[in-house]
Amino acid sequence: MAAEAIGIDLGTTYSCVGVWQNDHVEIIVNDQGNRTTPSYVAFNETERLVGDAAFNQVIKNPTNSIFDAKRLIGRRFSDISVQNDMKLWPFKVIEGPNDKPMIVVTHEGQEKQFAAEEISSMVLAKMREIAEMFLDSTVKNAVITVPAYFSDSQRQATRNAGEFAGLKVMRIINEPTAAAIAYGLEKQAGWYCKRNVMIFDLGGGTLDVSLLTISAGAFEVKATAGDTHLGGEDFDNRMVDFCAAEFKRKHDLDVSGNSRALRRLKNACEKAKRRLSFTSSVDIEIDCLAQGIDLYMTISRAKFEQLNMNFFNKCMEPVEKCIRDANMDISQIDDVVLAGGSSRIPKVQQLLQDVFKGKKLCKSINPDEAIAYGAAVQAAILSGNGNGKLHDFTLSDVTPMSLGVEVQNLQLCAENIMHFVIPRNTRVPVKKNTTIYTVYDNQSAIVFPIFEGESESTLNNNLLGKFSLVDIPPAPKGYPFDVWFEIDENGILSVSAEDKSTGQKKGITIASDRSNCSN
Ligand code: AMP
Repeated sequence: MAAEAIGIDLGTTYSCVGVWQNDHVEIIVNDQGNRTTPSYVAFNETERLVGDAAFNQVIKNPTNSIFDAKRLIGRRFSDISVQNDMKLWPFKVIEGPNDKPMIVVTHEGQEKQFAAEEISSMVLAKMREIAEMFLDSTVKNAVITVPAYFSDSQRQATRNAGEFAGLKVMRIINEPTAAAIAYGLEKQAGWYCKRNVMIFDLGGGTLDVSLLTISAGAFEVKATAGDTHLGGEDFDNRMVDFCAAEFKRKHDLDVSGNSRALRRLKNACEKAKRRLSFTSSVDIEIDCLAQGIDLYMTISRAKFEQLNMNFFNKCMEPVEKCIRDANMDISQIDDVVLAGGSSRIPKVQQLLQDVFKGKKLCKSINPDEAIAYGAAVQAAILSGNGNGKLHDFTLSDVTPMSLGVEVQNLQLCAENIMHFVIPRNTRVPVKKNTTIYTVYDNQSAIVFPIFEGESESTLNNNLLGKFSLVDIPPAPKGYPFDVWFEIDENGILSVSAEDKSTGQKKGITIASDRSNCSN
């Protein structure tokens, strides 16, 4: 068996890692027993902490506890979004060389600067470690997910973060593609039918809505919409404001300037919010919140919904925008997939279902794990660890254009005829053969010009390369040659031709990026 390969959902607030094992995806539990790990890195006098350990000490060390690196990665310091986000962070970000944002912390008594990809690489190294503990072996290969709207530089910076973490990044894939793979939706989109899939991904800090068209196993992002500052943390903050106001009303104590009390309240509210997705009311208890006074409250799901109703309604706007941008109608959407922990909120699900006129939502996979799940499937396929079951399950690369060899037909007085060998949208890897014949009596040489394109005439197609066989023994026209076209899993095309009677064989290899996978 090849070395294990993992799938990592590198999230803004939480990250998640999965691996294909024993015919299923295993979402790996971290050392704290959690299936997702905070994307936090903290620095203090003696050590560097990552994940839950970093998250749990934020209250006492806010300026050296770094989160949201995903909002910075691959961006410039002068980007408006960076300038706006900086106002909200308790940690310091400065302009580095070439307009690169640098995060400033104090570590072991010294001031240090880190680029966002260095922070992300620490989170990725933690995810790798979690996987290594579980698998009890070294892990090298990984698939990492990014939002569909990430630019090349954001993707490249994420790839670099993976490499800094000692990983071989087999592929960077789009988060919505990973979620669709998790549900095996590409399997249902066969050769002749397309599936339009909406991915509604509501996480801790962002809402990403994407519309994908899956056809013949290839994923095409048709439109994306969303809100880069809408998610679970907003819902937590609404609860915090409500609890603080109630505490003030009851005890005449204002905790709004007390950062420690606010952080404790926020943690308690976040836990309560999660429970409210499953129960109709929860109790929140915090000992000695301020001046020795305890907070004790009961919050109902109805109250939680009332507090956040305008946010929940706001979550539906990008859904409608995305459908409009893709020039589609609600009735054309085949599947609606939930991703991101906050999509567990029943009211959000209900509003979404209303938009889609009661359509059943895909939610059988834990939404906060769906992306890592799909990444793990992709990782297993790319590393060759997938068994038969997995190969049935997905294959996401197809040839973007038909491939063939140019021939002549003297009877028709036609030259430049495209003889198709591998049709467009054929899954790779693939190997196909054809027979090509000489067109003259005693033809002593034959050229094989290889083209890509859809036209019957090679004049309208692209020439990829050519090769020839010479010293053909004298023979009447119609002397046959076996020609093989082969595309390997990396999209590399090799064409060879053989003269069966003499054993003479020649060929070419054309290494271009032929895969049509939109990731
Ligand atoms: P993600 O970034 O996808 O991991 O989502 C994290 C966000 O989902 C956080 O704001 C969590 O509080 C939120 N979340 C996780 N589980 C639930 C749940 N059961 N109900 C509501 N929100 C949840």
